[in-house]
Amino acid sequence: MTSPPAIFVATCDLAAQIRGRSVPLTSETSVMRSGTGWVPANLALTCFGDLADAPLDSTGDLRLRPDPTAVYDIPAIGSLPPLRLMIGGQTDLDGTDWDGDCRAFALRALHELEERYDATITAAFEHEFLLEGLATEGVPFGLDRYRAAEPFGSELLGLLAAVGLDPDSWLAEFGAEQFEVTISPAEGISSADRAIVLRQLVRDLASQHGLRAGFAPMRTVDGVGSGVHVHFSMRTRAGDALLYDPTREGSLSSFGARFAAGIVRHAPALVAFTAPSPASGLRLGEHKWSSAGAYLSQADREALLRICPTTKLSATPEALQYNLEYRAADATGNPWLILGLLVRAGLSGLDGDVEEPVLMAPPAPGSPIRPLPATPEAARQAIDDDPELQSWLPPLLLQTSLAVRDAERAATQNLSPEQIVQKVARVY
Ligand code: GLU
Ligand code: MG
Repeated sequence: MTSPPAIFVATCDLAAQIRGRSVPLTSETSVMRSGTGWVPANLALTCFGDLADAPLDSTGDLRLRPDPTAVYDIPAIGSLPPLRLMIGGQTDLDGTDWDGDCRAFALRALHELEERYDATITAAFEHEFLLEGLATEGVPFGLDRYRAAEPFGSELLGLLAAVGLDPDSWLAEFGAEQFEVTISPAEGISSADRAIVLRQLVRDLASQHGLRAGFAPMRTVDGVGSGVHVHFSMRTRAGDALLYDPTREGSLSSFGARFAAGIVRHAPALVAFTAPSPASGLRLGEHKWSSAGAYLSQADREALLRICPTTKLSATPEALQYNLEYRAADATGNPWLILGLLVRAGLSGLDGDVEEPVLMAPPAPGSPIRPLPATPEAARQAIDDDPELQSWLPPLLLQTSLAVRDAERAATQNLSPEQIVQKVARVY
């Protein structure tokens, strides 16, 4: 690959937007050392580009410092020149983590999981999106739609491989113009870093084909939703699988059942962060194959947490294939916050020592499954009702998150559901 002319040092904010600054490649050494300048109030930007009424004002300065383990060399894509994308953390001027930094929040949670339970997490963020502008619709999962999207699909797999994202599969999904791309799992923070990079690569490539990649949770109120499903497995530092126990219900270990219990218990407030836009609640609910309620199930694609199948046909042992899928996220959520909060919720489950029962089938109608927040108002209420979840976040990060969500809610409160969906879809 020819050398990229520029470096882009990036963070991802509460509206899941990738923001940052570029510097010439000649500045690489100094940027690696001391980062670039950054403004605290940037964290208070809503998805619509307004500044929320957060505890951040026109004062203060930060450094945006690249993590050497999160450097992604993006080759030229059509007319777009190569780029060295460096993902960074926001620090104070002396290099200490800034309390508003979502990546640092996730890193602390991962560290605690490792220190206290000898557990590491390996995850893959599975993305659905629309290729808006594709001339042919084709049938769901169809070869015709797969072919209609060529050469985009083949180029995407090549691009993901070139950038080190290890593509796993690419398919035409259920909805019109809808596709899904999966990449291999990665350990710890890299899994969330990769979600951020993946979205940009998809957007870049789509734009070069005269298409628009739409990651919004909904495109129309009655249409099919696009989710981000977080698959995760857990191992000890020595590499032993922690979630799998074939002698138990759903083959879920006691460790896994306790970790899951924390996620299920905190589901309503979690969802307020993992699917946070004013349109996100419209994707959730029954008969949408997204997530219909706060429960764990082996068989059900409407569960909050689904136990994914393993196969004896694979060369990989079942213990290492075994993973849980958190289905109630979408691409309006910050991947670091999603990962960090899932880990925090799991930790609270482990500490609480109560197992989550595995449902072996969808819940019977009328069973007492807690619903997930369907509106921005319900999402805000769910956070207010969960002081434990609030306590996991540094106050600055919590207050700014709430302010951003409040501002987005205010910006959409007089709109019809269809108008809300359209407004959010224009951003994502
Ligand atoms: N489109 C569904 C969602 O919004 C997921 C469908 C599936 O892949 O199971 O999450
Ligand atoms: Mg899918």
